[in-house]
Amino acid sequence: MAEVYVARMRDDPGYVIEFVDACGASPGNRSLKWVIVISTQFGCPVNCRMCDAGGDFRGNLTFEDLRSQIETVFSAHDEIDPRDCQKLKVQFARMGEPSFNDEVLELLRWFKDRYPNIVPCVTTMTPIGREQWFEKLLEVRDSFSDFQLQFSINSTDDDYREKLMPYPKMSWDWLADFGREFFRNEQRKIVLNFAICPDIPVQSGFVKRYFDPKWFIIKMTPVNPTSAATENGFTIAHNRLVADNLIRLKSSEFENQGYAVIQSIGDMEENLIGSNCGQMARRIIATS
Ligand code: SF4
Repeated sequence: MAEVYVARMRDDPGYVIEFVDACGASPGNRSLKWVIVISTQFGCPVNCRMCDAGGDFRGNLTFEDLRSQIETVFSAHDEIDPRDCQKLKVQFARMGEPSFNDEVLELLRWFKDRYPNIVPCVTTMTPIGREQWFEKLLEVRDSFSDFQLQFSINSTDDDYREKLMPYPKMSWDWLADFGREFFRNEQRKIVLNFAICPDIPVQSGFVKRYFDPKWFIIKMTPVNPTSAATENGFTIAHNRLVADNLIRLKSSEFENQGYAVIQSIGDMEENLIGSNCGQMARRIIATS
């Protein structure tokens, strides 16, 4: 289904990143759908309480570091020209907050020239101080026929949100206005992602006050049993049935408010082998 790459860089055991090569449709067949997930920073200054990529921040990846993740994956599959892939997605969603890195915008411009069929997917917790980066993202968006933007909302309770993602973030009004501006007719809606576990407050009524279902879609992702989540005491759903039930309950709340909902439960095997975001890199750094 997927391979997680771990790359040690700068000739230094502390500079480790992860990236992922996944078949989106059927195993071994990348011509229909191909998903590559890349890192944008060494560690992450946001330090979310449920993410193993957080902490031990050592700076941004360069343009070459970003590009080499894509090219490494492409070169492992020389049986297919990426330009022939029907749905080629590159997600900025592994280690790091992408909006902190200006080279992400450069990489998007490089995609436009080399691989215009790429669908970029930017996942962000929208840190304060990066307004200009987001303004430039709006300009780059129009180079692609499809572009996915995801806000990591995680909780609707401001205090709890602060605890989960301990970094200053844009206001609810800014999120609603920017998302509305980013949306293009006939294109996919802006994704609002929530981390689902019994401890985290998520209220659909609060979301409806700011985010119109015409432009926003809800995504539910269970909190995975990463080292960080376990150390920080989150109640984790360790089996599929419990995770399914929890997400089904929350989903129907949002559906009643008029939203479409994506249930992103993934494969529990990812938990068993420890392939969630940051887990492999953490393991390699610890054993170096
Ligand atoms: S979830 Fe994203 S923003 Fe938060 S620590 Fe992990 S990589 Fe950084």
